[in-house]
Amino acid sequence: MVGRSVIKGNVIRIAGGKYKFSRSRDIEGTVRLLTVKRDACGDFFVYLICDTPEVRRETGMGESIGFDFGFKGAMLAAEDPKNDIPGPSFFRRQKNAIARANRKLSGKRTGSHNREKARLELVRLHRRVANRRRAFHWELARELCKKYSVICLEDLNLKRMQTGHGKKAADYGFAELVSILEYVSPQFGTAVVRIGKFFPSSQLCNVCGFRNKEIKDVRIRAWDCPKCGAHHDRDRNAAKNIREEGLRILSEKQATA
Ligand SMILES: [Zn+2]
Repeated sequence: MVGRSVIKGNVIRIAGGKYKFSRSRDIEGTVRLLTVKRDACGDFFVYLICDTPEVRRETGMGESIGFDFGFKGAMLAAEDPKNDIPGPSFFRRQKNAIARANRKLSGKRTGSHNREKARLELVRLHRRVANRRRAFHWELARELCKKYSVICLEDLNLKRMQTGHGKKAADYGFAELVSILEYVSPQFGTAVVRIGKFFPSSQLCNVCGFRNKEIKDVRIRAWDCPKCGAHHDRDRNAAKNIREEGLRILSEKQATA
């Protein structure tokens, strides 16, 4: 057990020395284990393992939501725009910074001191992006689990990722977000339901169930159902279908449990 006195604000005491550190996350619960690691850039990181009081809630008591992974517009698109999760602006800002650092590196002579400096700068930037993204994912996962008791998502579709969405998917780190969400959700009593990737969430009319195969074309952002005439925004309609399919899967699971 590590006493709380080891950490005071942003100062940590290790082996008699006092060190300032920047906090990537709030410390919750009691610190059980503290590890210090040094990475390839020569910087030190403090890792804390904490015991947190476990709160388990019954599933299915609160609101449910379906999210479509957004490649245009919001990062996660919901049925109701007010529940959308926008992509944080730092992703784009830092991407530009990485592009700049890359250009700088390519302008330096091989083997030169300046090249090594530029390389290190690039490595640092990549790390900073990864750290901020991870912190954002953890915060978002907790926020979502506090708000919803059922969260329905599509399984990440590798084929869809390859058709031009790959970069965006990698930037947002959807796969990492989903795994963090699945890790965090039991503490909140939230069920995360993954919809099979063959479920045509974008193509089904949410009103009448008609399947419109033309919607496979991802450039179509809005459409009218040829059968019932309902007007659909691509992502909103998909999010609705994902939520309904998720609830169906969940009730099936609960019936067999
Ligand atoms: Zn319809």
